[in-house]
Amino acid sequence: MDETTPSAVDFAAQLAVLRRQFAAQLAGTLDELNRLMAGRGPDVPRELLVQIHFRLHKLAGAGGTFGFPELSVQARALEEVAKAWLESDLPPPRDQWKNWLAGLRALRQSIAVQDESVAIKEASVPAAPRPVAWGVLRVVMVHSDQAFSLSMCRGLGQFGYTVSPYPSWDSAQAVLRDDPPDIVLLEGAIVEGDNEPTRQAVERLAAQTSRHVALIVLASHADFAIQLLAAKAGAEVFFTQPVDVPTVAARVESLVREREQPPYRVLIVDDDEVLAEHYRLTLRAAGMLADRVSHPNAVLPALLKLRPDVLLMDLYMPECTGEELARMIRYDSAWQGLPIVLMSAESDLTRQVQALRSGADDFLVKPISDVQLVVGIRVRAERARKVAELMNQDSLTGLLKHASIKDRLAQEVDRSRRNGKPVSIAMVDIDFFKRVNDNWGHPMGDQVIKTLGNLLRQRLRRQDSVGRYGGEEFLVILPECAEVDALRLLDDIRRRFADIVFRSGEHNFQVTLSAGVAVSAQGGDAHEVLAAADQALYLAKNSGRNQICK
Ligand code: GH3
Ligand code: MG
Ligand code: MG
Repeated sequence: MDETTPSAVDFAAQLAVLRRQFAAQLAGTLDELNRLMAGRGPDVPRELLVQIHFRLHKLAGAGGTFGFPELSVQARALEEVAKAWLESDLPPPRDQWKNWLAGLRALRQSIAVQDESVAIKEASVPAAPRPVAWGVLRVVMVHSDQAFSLSMCRGLGQFGYTVSPYPSWDSAQAVLRDDPPDIVLLEGAIVEGDNEPTRQAVERLAAQTSRHVALIVLASHADFAIQLLAAKAGAEVFFTQPVDVPTVAARVESLVREREQPPYRVLIVDDDEVLAEHYRLTLRAAGMLADRVSHPNAVLPALLKLRPDVLLMDLYMPECTGEELARMIRYDSAWQGLPIVLMSAESDLTRQVQALRSGADDFLVKPISDVQLVVGIRVRAERARKVAELMNQDSLTGLLKHASIKDRLAQEVDRSRRNGKPVSIAMVDIDFFKRVNDNWGHPMGDQVIKTLGNLLRQRLRRQDSVGRYGGEEFLVILPECAEVDALRLLDDIRRRFADIVFRSGEHNFQVTLSAGVAVSAQGGDAHEVLAAADQALYLAKNSGRNQICK
């Protein structure tokens, strides 16, 4: 699988290669079809007719994508006639047969001119959002109250964000223009006092950079007028001061999390390799991770390897149909929720309905334009992710639920056994959490749990996992991470958490955590490594808390 997104230039060049490849094979294909049919009468063997029908069907589906729209139309017409013959018990009428053969010959002649202008328009493929580097989120804070600004910067720094303060909108212009951050925290008075230029500047900022700059407004009061101004300026979040750091961090976190989704994964199954490669490149150019297989028997292993968000499958393949394959895939409960999108040059409604009944979720009719493909797949992948998230995520923290993080642990320990690289895990538990609830109330306790969830997520690498294991207990999984590195990372998280100042009314308070670290031993299972981490946590608690043990 290819993990990189190609540049627009690469993409156009690769597509051109595919187009030429298709064109180069096309003449040969059509010559062969004409040769097979040469001298044949209406008593043509049925197997031959089946084969011709199949190949016309493929041509009709691919032609438009590769710059032969006329070929698509003509092949479709010939295909439909052949289909009617196959469905009827009578041999083709002589006149119709002769016309059909003439049509097949004309098809060969029509491809002398390829219409490049209607071939895929590279520029029309929706661009992928610029990826945001993991863990180095940059925040620019524009606020005239320097003391407040500094404390906010220091606090957000605890969560691993890089925050730079600027006392005025003017002073921030250079950085906003030359090196735009991920998030701008803006004082409400600035929006209020100077709305039009600010709004335009923010819009320019968002347009200039392909990535989206999120705007958060911190205002001293909330009324309709200022909130409307903030909305006009494009602010996604509006806070009224006083506001504490964990609350702001939680919003920053959720804004980023929405954007930092790993790319959608798509598996393409099509026996037409050139066409499948075209789809793969198109989806990759739109920022998705796409892989393809051309043989139905490779689908199940590929599903396990890629774990796609969407399966895109051709309806007609030589050995089995997409419907049959869809039904087979659903036998495994792991793939019950996988969206399966079938595609075919099928314009027959009954057949589509049949395909949907067999367990497919949707239908795309070939030829599919690149934009249709990207948008169609993106919408389905998005919906699938949302559903999966709702099922697997803890509602308070947005982290994985108990069962899901345990599944993940089993997967990672298994993988570590196969590749021989250690997986470290940590069991993290908040110290004296009962007191937090008792002293500051249950909702404040929830806030503390949420804050630790955000901190963990922010400090971990993309391949790491973290789940809410119990009430105030978290399980962290660090694949390919040695124990010494895990200890260092957890200790850093411990220090940052201890530094966070929570506010309840007029009171400030701080909370600490303890953690137990363990590393998967050669041949050990998930159960053993979990028990070892638990024991290490017990040791940390008994040795005075606010520490990491192994
Ligand atoms: P220790 O340092 O030994 O871990 O002390 P502790 O007080 O944290 O000990 P314990 O694990 O026994 O207490 C956990 C408490 O967390 C008990 C429970 O009432 C509370 N709790 C569990 N889930 C939630 C939750 O979702 N929200 C809040 N506010 N409290 C929770
Ligand atoms: Mg505890
Ligand atoms: Mg506990």
